Formats: sequence, structure tokens, C-alpha cells
Amino acid sequence: MAVEPLLADDDFVPLTGSGRTAPSLALLARPRTAAEAAGAVLARGSRGAVARGRGRSCGDAAQNAGGTVLDLTALDRIRGLDAAAGLVVCEAGTELGALARALLPYGLHPRAGGGGWTAGGTVASGYGNGVEAFELLGADGRSRTVRRGEPLFDATVGGLGLTGVVLAVTLALRPVETAYLRERSVRFRDVDALLAHWTAPGAVPEPYARARVEPAGRGRAVLTAAAPVPYAGLPRGHRARRAPLAPPSFPGPWAGGLRPLPGLARARAVPAYGRGPRAGFVRYRCAVPEGREEALRGLLALLAGRRSPARGARHARVERVYADGAGPLAFPVRGWCLTVEVPAGARGLGRFLDVLDERVAEAGGRVCLAEDARLRPALLPVMYPRLDAFRGLRAALDPRSVFRSDLARRLGL
Ligand SMILES: Cc1cc2nc3c(=O)[nH]c(=O)nc-3n(C[C@H](O)[C@H](O)[C@H](O)COP(=O)(O)OP(=O)(O)OC[C@H]3O[C@@H](n4cnc5c(N)ncnc54)[C@H](O)[C@@H]3O)c2cc1C
Repeated sequence: MAVEPLLADDDFVPLTGSGRTAPSLALLARPRTAAEAAGAVLARGSRGAVARGRGRSCGDAAQNAGGTVLDLTALDRIRGLDAAAGLVVCEAGTELGALARALLPYGLHPRAGGGGWTAGGTVASGYGNGVEAFELLGADGRSRTVRRGEPLFDATVGGLGLTGVVLAVTLALRPVETAYLRERSVRFRDVDALLAHWTAPGAVPEPYARARVEPAGRGRAVLTAAAPVPYAGLPRGHRARRAPLAPPSFPGPWAGGLRPLPGLARARAVPAYGRGPRAGFVRYRCAVPEGREEALRGLLALLAGRRSPARGARHARVERVYADGAGPLAFPVRGWCLTVEVPAGARGLGRFLDVLDERVAEAGGRVCLAEDARLRPALLPVMYPRLDAFRGLRAALDPRSVFRSDLARRLGL
């Protein structure tokens, strides 16, 4: 008997997140313009559509089995810079790290940070810091500008692509005097010492600080903090002293407003890492509120347990989070963020992560949905108590649920 491969169509391609688990087949569209993106949304089939950046999130949020996935990475133009207002507008597929490198010679850096992920994916994954507005393509194929402060802004930041396709993002910039950060590392004998340092009265917020905690043993930790180096702080004779960063000079009278960046239409992205033959892994990322440090200690103790599937992880990462996210599905919680990467095949991993989920939920925390591919739906409203507000807004905006993903189906979003 002939065996047919289980492919819906030759045009369907298997997609995963960066963890390379839970693949599903989708029709991949790669729009190069906003009009092509609108066309792909209008032409989607009954399984709907969802946007995708560089597939850097770990779970199944940027997948849509049997439906359309819009790969936004060809939409990577920098539309312009408003140096007076400190804003840059870039298309949604722009890699934030490439954008940061492109702006650096002008002494500017996006407040949203820089990394191998896209501007649109960053918004949809729940990072709204430094995002002032975006252009959102709706289920009807029309786009609109959404500004900070509007309910749709909050629902889209962390909305995992389920409120529409972000086509372009307006990002706030901060001035930098040099291209350098000064790093400082402090070692701690265990997690208690680390948390005592971070929560000491009068401790100064360190937005770039993160700690690596050894999962095994006593849980030794190394905290690394970084601060921008001002021009005057460069060592004497440093080559950067000879070429100070300078704001762009635009031809003609300067009246403010959005201007194309001289000689620069695109930010060149570097190839995504993790595309090689790497074994699948699960990234468990969770938030624990301030004041529930005992829960964070408990999670780290579980990771270090003798039979923990996470003992093989090189380290767990702990970050201090200084503000809650605004939207109903926003991940950030003022307090702590814990991340660990574990090989997907580790024995007993599923049950182990279920136990972590329960502890996180009991502590009033939540798992990061952009990294998740396995959370049980029953825990979702406990972790995200404003889930109904999100569902209500989505029902009004997109009554036929055009925007869908594997994650949305799995969790009943
Ligand atoms: C401050 C900061 C720190 C971070 N730290 C880490 C880290 O340590 N490790 C790490 O791996 N990642 C980190 N991230 C990245 C973040 O967690 C997401 O994984 C990443 O932003 C998404 O990557 P992507 O652009 O490839 O989107 P994808 O992974 O392709 O998609 C992620 C989600 O966004 C949606 N989406 C993508 N593009 C669009 C669009 N244009 N319109 C609507 N929805 C869209 C998808 O549907 C999916 O739901 C950090 C991001 C920031 C801003």
C-alpha cells in the first residue's frame, strides 16, 4: 500500500519556534509591502492567519497549523527618524539589534533595547517599553494607527498576534554618548545572598542587570550589571574618542518631523542563530511578584532537586523587573523573572513543568506565553486574571477569529 506524506499542500511548510518543538504545517506568505500583507490576510483560508517575526520565541505562538502564517521579515525598512522628538519609525520585520547598530553612529539607541528579534514580535510578545505607536492591520484588511494609552495598544502589547498584524512601529530613542557599556559582575555564594543584594533598602534600580544561577549545588550566582559609558568616561587614547557619535544632519532647513535617515533605508539583520542542527529545547520563562521571594527560592530549589530534569541546564537566569506590563496578556510582573532552558527530551520534563506552573500560579505569577507550548488551559485565567477583557476585545475586533495560532487554539484564547 502506498503511503502518502501527511502534507496538506506542497506550499505548506513546517514551522516551529526557536525551541524546535511542536512543529506544524502552515501556508507561509512573505509580504514585501503593507498591501501584500493585507492581501494575504484577506486571502486566508478557514484556519485563519497569524503574523510571525524571526521565530525567536520558543513556543507555538507564531505557528498556525493548516492556516496562513505571514512572515514579516521582508518588511524591514526604516521609514524615518524624528531626531527632535527622539522617535524612529521602522517596519515590523526590522530586527531590533540591527536597528540599534544602524542608529548608533548618530548617538541614538532604541529604548526598547536591541536583540535578534523583530520590532513587531517584540510588541506582540509583550514588551511595550519605548513603543509609542504602531500601525495595525485588522481582519478586514485595513490598517490603523494605534497609540500608547489606547485599549487596543495595551491588548496588542502581549497579544501574541491575535489582535492583528503589526506593520510598523514607532519607537522612542535615547541619546547615547558612546557605543560602550561598562559591565560589572558580582559573585554571590547562593540565591539568598543575591536576593538580599537586590532587595536591600536603598538599592538602586539596575535595568540592565541579570543574574546567572547555577541550578545544582548551593545555587551560586553571578550578577552582571551594565551602564552606558559617557564620552568623558572613555579611557584616554581610546579610538572612540577620535570619532564621537553625532546626531544626523539633514539637508535643508530643519523643521523637525519624520525624515529618512541619510543613506540608510534598511537595518541589516544578522542571520538568526539557532538555525543549525540543534536539539530541541524548552525555554521556561515565568514571572513571580515582588514580595513572593520564597516562591522564587522554591522554584530554584525544585530546579536544583536531585531528580530535576533541569539539573542539566547550564544555568537559570534571574532578572529584577521594575514595573507591571499594562495589557491583559502582558507578561511582565513587578518582581522577578526566571528563565531556564532544558533539553526537550529530558525525562519527566512535562510533569516537572506542570509542578512549576502550579507553584507560579499559587504565588500570583505567570508563565510567558510567547515562550510556552504546553501550559494547561485551566491555569490561564489564574495567571492572567484579565483574560476575559482580552477575549471581549478580540471578539469585538475580530468576531470571526481571523487571527489564530496554534497557541490560541491550544489555550482557548
Ligand atoms: C527587553 C527584551 C528582553 C528579551 N529577552 C529575551 C531573551 O533573553 N531571550 C529570548 O530568546 N528572547 C528575548 N526577548 C525576545 C522576546 O521574548 C520574543 O521572543 C521576541 O521578541 C519575539 O521574536 P520574533 O520577533 O522573532 O517573533 P516571533 O517569535 O516570530 O513571534 C512571537 C509572537 O509575536 C507575534 N508576532 C510576530 N511578529 C508580529 C507582527 N508583525 N504583528 C503581530 N504579531 C506578531 C507572533 O504571532 C507570536 O505570537 C526579549 C525581548 C525584549 C524586548
